[in-house]
Amino acid sequence: DPALAVRGLTKRYGDTVALEEVDLAVDDGEFVAVVGPSGCGKSTLLRVLTGLEERFEGRAAVDGVDVRDGGSDGVGMVFQEPRLLAWADVRENVAIGLPGGVDRDDPAAHDRVDDLIETVGLDGFAGHRPGELSGGMAQRVSLARGLAYEPEVLLLDEPFSALDQLTKYEQQDNLLDVWRERGATVALVTHDVEEAAYLADRVVVLGGQPGTVEAVVNVEADRP
Ligand code: ADP
Ligand code: ADP
Repeated sequence: DPALAVRGLTKRYGDTVALEEVDLAVDDGEFVAVVGPSGCGKSTLLRVLTGLEERFEGRAAVDGVDVRDGGSDGVGMVFQEPRLLAWADVRENVAIGLPGGVDRDDPAAHDRVDDLIETVGLDGFAGHRPGELSGGMAQRVSLARGLAYEPEVLLLDEPFSALDQLTKYEQQDNLLDVWRERGATVALVTHDVEEAAYLADRVVVLGGQPGTVEAVVNVEADRP
């Protein structure tokens, strides 16, 4: 089974057709970027795959498990809006992402959280609360929380949109490092075609005519 399998996916909100007859298959370990103009249904596609959308037509499966049957618990999602806990500090917000069963009092768990905080360039801010962070910093906390889970399938919705250019490049390269080390499957949604071409094995374009999700570029050689 492919890691992500979408067949004939149509999603409507009232009269709005957010997705129409979308087919997409993503192989195990593949890094796919989904691009397309604002409103073409990119976020909706990820929400369906995460199991956050109850009603849609067609099929969507993660790791061979239909999302209607609960999907795979190996899927992790980083939302475009950071959705941090306001009363918890950065360390706690990242630790929330640790998989169930991990003993949070275990020094190894602490190390892992601290490593992730360093990876996203926030060492020194571990004790800060979200209200004390910039939008870009909050987005990096959200990314660290998503990575803490170590999902087999990582779904990322515009994870770099609030970052300045330099930080964005750093975090893009960090993501590639994590992806290579872990061999995870990644589906990243972005409106930034350059970012997609830089990061992904395959860039999929969503939108335009119904059913026209297509692989347009293979850009593997573009990566460092
Ligand atoms: P993208 O992520 O590509 O910008 P979205 O998936 O957010 O696109 O949205 C696709 C379409 O569905 C848009 O027309 C949007 O307005 C509509 N839409 C998304 N979520 C909702 C919702 N909860 N209720 C109503 N319409 C929605
Ligand atoms: P070129 O690769 O043609 O010289 P740029 O350097 O402007 O073009 O980069 C194009 C895209 O590649 C950027 O928008 C960015 O997404 C990505 N990119 C370039 N350099 C880096 C880098 N060092 N780290 C991460 N991403 C990079």
